[in-house]
Amino acid sequence: MQHFTKAENRDIEDRYLDFLKVIKDKFDEGRLGRIEKAFRFSNAAHHGIKRKSGEPFIIHPIAVAKIVALDLGLGATSIVAALLHDVVEDTDYRLSDIENMFGNRVASIVDGLTKLSGDFDQRHALTLKKMLMTLSDDVRVILIKIADRLHNMRTLDSMPAHKKIKIAGETLFLYVPLAHRLGLHAIKSDLEELSFKHKHPEEYNQIIYLLHNQEEKRNYLVNEFIQPIIKKLEQENVDCKVSHRLKTSYSIWQKMQKKSVSFEEVYDLLAIRIAINSKPGTSEKRQCFDVLSIVTDIYKPKPDRIRDWITTPKANGYESLHVTVMGPEGQWVEVQIRTDRMDDVAEHGFAAHYRYKDIRNFENELDPWIERIRELLQSTDADAFEFLDDFKLNLFSAEINVFTPKGDMFSLPKGSTVVDFAYEIHTDLGNKCIGAKINLKLVPLSHVLKNGDQVEILTSENQVPKLEWLKFSASPKARGKIKNAFKDEKTKHSKKGQIIVEDAFKKMKAPLTSNNLKKLTAHYNLNNKEQLYSEVGMGFIELDNLNDIIGKKSENKLVKYWNVTFGSGSKKQDEETEFEEETTTKIDKKKPFLLKENQDNITFSLAKCCNPIPGEQVIGYLSTDDHVTIHKVECHELERFIANQGEKIIRAEWTKFKRQSYLTRLNLEGFDRMGIVNEVTTMITKGHNINMRSVKFDTHDGIFKGDLFLYIHNAEDLSKLIERLKTIKGIDNVTRIENLTE
Ligand code: MN
Repeated sequence: MQHFTKAENRDIEDRYLDFLKVIKDKFDEGRLGRIEKAFRFSNAAHHGIKRKSGEPFIIHPIAVAKIVALDLGLGATSIVAALLHDVVEDTDYRLSDIENMFGNRVASIVDGLTKLSGDFDQRHALTLKKMLMTLSDDVRVILIKIADRLHNMRTLDSMPAHKKIKIAGETLFLYVPLAHRLGLHAIKSDLEELSFKHKHPEEYNQIIYLLHNQEEKRNYLVNEFIQPIIKKLEQENVDCKVSHRLKTSYSIWQKMQKKSVSFEEVYDLLAIRIAINSKPGTSEKRQCFDVLSIVTDIYKPKPDRIRDWITTPKANGYESLHVTVMGPEGQWVEVQIRTDRMDDVAEHGFAAHYRYKDIRNFENELDPWIERIRELLQSTDADAFEFLDDFKLNLFSAEINVFTPKGDMFSLPKGSTVVDFAYEIHTDLGNKCIGAKINLKLVPLSHVLKNGDQVEILTSENQVPKLEWLKFSASPKARGKIKNAFKDEKTKHSKKGQIIVEDAFKKMKAPLTSNNLKKLTAHYNLNNKEQLYSEVGMGFIELDNLNDIIGKKSENKLVKYWNVTFGSGSKKQDEETEFEEETTTKIDKKKPFLLKENQDNITFSLAKCCNPIPGEQVIGYLSTDDHVTIHKVECHELERFIANQGEKIIRAEWTKFKRQSYLTRLNLEGFDRMGIVNEVTTMITKGHNINMRSVKFDTHDGIFKGDLFLYIHNAEDLSKLIERLKTIKGIDNVTRIENLTE
């Protein structure tokens, strides 16, 4: 075993003492003794082991324990488990050793953490499923796991670039939604910011720079805005703290992406928060509404923008009163009003509930959710991937509350429809549902419910579940139930689909090799051939351009293959295997995959979901052993692959691209005026080496819209063109559209 130097040992002791300093007032001697014992044991167990950064490994468990104690506010048992969380995974000690020394409560938490650990290259849908199961056993396992991830994200710098992207992607996919759902607001923001920084370093740096640039002006505005409020609150004897909060760079970037706006156009950068030191004896809700009335006496509220999360807290326990008011410079400013207790819960969510001892209240909010997870885990035997997709819907979506005719309240994900509500109440009600009555009006199954709706479900004995319901159901429960109803149907479809696929290959005179099937599944972004068969069988996929998908390479080979077969039929079997081996040129996963313009064997294709063009940041997905699909770094489809099949993700880089051009789609928007169409088309055809495939212009009520399909060489040409189009008078907005289907 390698030994640490004196300096390293001193560093370890310093960090431990530093940790002790911040927790020692919170615990009695007995508990501090257990923590000390856990540290000594863990330190000895990890002795001589270093992290990627070169630091002694034990620094990691100490840091995780600190997050568990400070940010999550958990107790001594959790701290002990945090200190020991990597011992079973990384050293020769076993779980029984931990149990003997620290008892079975600590051992069972460490066991849960060990089961959740493992390489980043595992199938992560399964990991999430495992996580959710532990969640219903002991929530502390998940909380410590999140702390573990947070520290790993904070120390991500020493990882190689492609691992950074992988880990950051996984964090956004799994840990952020979980932290959100558990109400760990501060940690969720931290995880988002760190993921953003490592996944999109350029965009991150730019936003940080722009925010920094505006700081002075912003501070001036904040002061101008809050001074009158503070004065009035003092006069009214309200004991409170007024602070302001800036949107995080991640949420700014998200807004820019989602609404295709520039940094300057993101207007709600600021929020003001008033945290009231609540007076005992008066209801907290009352105190918040009193402050609301003080604020709206000074500034005019935006109609319909008062959100009351106190009367009905959010599903993750969040309570607060939000109002958007018109500030002094004609800007909308959001004001959040809450008591100090609500503020603590808003920042630390789940963990903070413990501190307020109001366990009954706390159980009310979280238990139904955990109960729902348990139900989901038991009811669906869908594959983990599918389960994860559905579950993600539930983790992130906001919730609405709707009522039965009798006044019972049900919470559903935002965007839920009549069919979701029906299944939420009862499976039979869902299966037989034909529509609903809302406020005496008849609505179809696909009708999207609004917060506060009172819904009466209408049924018919003749009704049966329909596959198209999946198109408008938003809750995992309903989706699971509908899919289950179709399980038998599915095998029928799958068989039919297989026959269609085989026929199509025969017609094309193409060999039905596993490689060709893989190309097809990759093309349609499916996971396996079973999915391909069932989607074809259900008519979702028409195999109209089979030849293009399989690619020219196979065509050339095909000639050879058929010649041989015709020459001597008995050799067919051997030739086929030879043909398969011949095409398998292994791709080196360790090196970045270079995208070249004139590759003899074209071993990559550009993903249809995000249509990257040369010059854009891209990443590769190994769809087969010798084929890479290229996605944009920010592609959402890719995010699924990163989380589930991380081992197939490779770095990719463009080399010089000059001759070939790529189909790209732009949408224009602006005010209609004479000659604008002409100006747009002239600008495109002139100057740049860009060709138009099709252009469509549409004007309506004075608004001008253009849908352009262009052949473009690279990202640089494209961004130059966009800049120039924006200079045309009347053009308000130019957006690149990734989806090329008209
Ligand atoms: Mn760890």
